[in-house]
Amino acid sequence: MSDEAKPKKKLAIITCMDSRLVNYLYEKLGIDRGDAKVIKNAGNIITDDVLRSLVVAIYLLDVNKIIIVGHTDCGMKSVDVENIKNKMLERGANPYFTPNLGQWLGKINSEEENVIKGVELIKNHPAIPKDVDVRGFILDVETGELKQVC
Ligand code: ZN
Repeated sequence: MSDEAKPKKKLAIITCMDSRLVNYLYEKLGIDRGDAKVIKNAGNIITDDVLRSLVVAIYLLDVNKIIIVGHTDCGMKSVDVENIKNKMLERGANPYFTPNLGQWLGKINSEEENVIKGVELIKNHPAIPKDVDVRGFILDVETGELKQVC
């Protein structure tokens, strides 16, 4: 791996796939091309796959700062599991491939709680070294205000 693959700010950002965050988030954070590793999923949830990417970012790409950026009005708070289940059935898919579709989808109760929980999960994970700085933020998609929550 070339040194150019390493993020200049030694930073990894975990954020939501919400389309309102495209470009906007990086403007708010002052992040340019080459500055940070960005990991996105629905609801910025710390799954095993996110942890896998963080381990690569830390040990191979010199990341020493991790931030989770959640946002207001996140779709994963209002995700209607029954509706998704019905749509899957209508379109010939099988919603029973997992014993608990709601849990598998990762519905969240509060954007802020979800960020705090994620930060704790990363900090306490056995594969993450204690010298990595982990913080959490909420971006207000209406006002653009970025608030630190932990
Ligand atoms: Zn979201």
